[in-house]
Amino acid sequence: MIRFFNTMNGRVEPFEPLSAGAVKLYTCGPTVYDYPHIGNYRAYVFEDLLKRFLLFMGLRTTHVMNITDVDDKTIRGANLQGVALGEYTRKYQDAFFEDIRTLRILPADVYPRATEHIPEMVAIIRGLLEKGYAYRKEGSIYFSIAKFPAYGRLSKIRLDELKPGQRVETDEYEKESVHDFALWKEPKGGEPFWETEVGPGRPGWHIECSAMSSKYLGETFDIHCGGVDNIFPHHENEIAQSEAFTGKPFVRTWMHCHHLVVDGEKMAKSKGNQFTLRDLVSQGADPMDLRFLLLSTHYRKMLNFTSDALAQAKASRRRLLDFLFELEHGDFAPGGPDPVVSDLIRKARKGFVEGLSDDLNISNSLSALFEFVRDVNTLIATEKLGAGGADASAALLRDVDGVLAVLPPKELQEVALPPGLASKIEARQKARQEKDFKLADRLRRELIEEGIILEDTKDGLRWKRTKPSGRTNG
Ligand code: AMP
Ligand code: ZN
Repeated sequence: MIRFFNTMNGRVEPFEPLSAGAVKLYTCGPTVYDYPHIGNYRAYVFEDLLKRFLLFMGLRTTHVMNITDVDDKTIRGANLQGVALGEYTRKYQDAFFEDIRTLRILPADVYPRATEHIPEMVAIIRGLLEKGYAYRKEGSIYFSIAKFPAYGRLSKIRLDELKPGQRVETDEYEKESVHDFALWKEPKGGEPFWETEVGPGRPGWHIECSAMSSKYLGETFDIHCGGVDNIFPHHENEIAQSEAFTGKPFVRTWMHCHHLVVDGEKMAKSKGNQFTLRDLVSQGADPMDLRFLLLSTHYRKMLNFTSDALAQAKASRRRLLDFLFELEHGDFAPGGPDPVVSDLIRKARKGFVEGLSDDLNISNSLSALFEFVRDVNTLIATEKLGAGGADASAALLRDVDGVLAVLPPKELQEVALPPGLASKIEARQKARQEKDFKLADRLRRELIEEGIILEDTKDGLRWKRTKPSGRTNG
């Protein structure tokens, strides 16, 4: 049984999608006013782990991630540069899509843009005005939180001190200033605005997620994710808008990841302590090591980003790579998997699934996997692993990598054979035919040092070149 921590109820609960076998998932996406920093990618990698795990468990997913391309920050940025909003945000959208490919984050099914959903937002705002949950003040429209008694349930905010009718105009604010929030903002000089049924203006930030989630996932859906900073006010406001409008429960399970911090402080553009993915890659970091680092700390724990932590992630991932390399390219005596290996595989798979089923407890899943690596390595060292066992072990690794996505793809480039290596390859073939696996293995390792991988296929021997960095090929 899969169990997740539901922020709404403050406890780990069994997870069952509304319709059997299919999960509807909404994750708050980037505000495209700058290059995303790796704190943002902690949130997106956590969501990717969640989604890949649901898929691994045989569930289908419909995943929607919004792109905030109009809000206080994007407008400010465009005005500072003196360019049109669309031109300004396009650059950062492109960067975001490039980054998620680099980090092997599975694409969402829909990436709705706020600027393309103004009529949907206006329809909800109109409904809220008609039902008395919203009111006009000067040219803007606000949500009256006093009219929605459940306000504060998600963030556990206390409303005792609330002064009715106080308003907040900005999209982001602290819990201390809980106020009626803007659904629609009046046109201001130098800001883009739309002519709509509720008057001219532009949407507040929160309304877009209410409008776009219900459009693509329905009024009630399974999981809504974000970072903990989204709980208040963003998600609290989404609930108020959506439930006041539809009269139905909005989201069944709320999942939030904790922050990525640097020296104890949240990584944020406003704090000037941010790294982008590009920064790190240009300094020589492997994005797959970064992915491994981001996913290997439990999502509800704070993640302190340091170069040591990245180095440790690299070393752990290298153990998996080396192990897989050995399994896929090593010389093993023929024979099917024996019961010892089959048992280890069963145990590892069970441990991996049980870990993630328990509120995405990745530490337990990785422990099960590394225990498997250790046990099978012992079999290899004592020459007790046959070809069948090696294949089955590699298949397990490839399988769980459907969730982790940190191992290199199987295909390697075939290139022309460099002179001088043919005789070594021949010698290794001869050793294999004579069942001198030790010699064959030594020759194979020497070839690897020269960047050559041998593969025995049913059509005979094939060889491939690894990346210039030698055997890491990751
Ligand atoms: P934004 O582009 O600021 O709207 O943020 C996009 C996503 O990144 C949201 O889900 C945020 O909660 C999340 N996020 C922002 N900063 C961090 C951080 N330092 N650690 C983890 N998640 C973050
Ligand atoms: Zn949102």
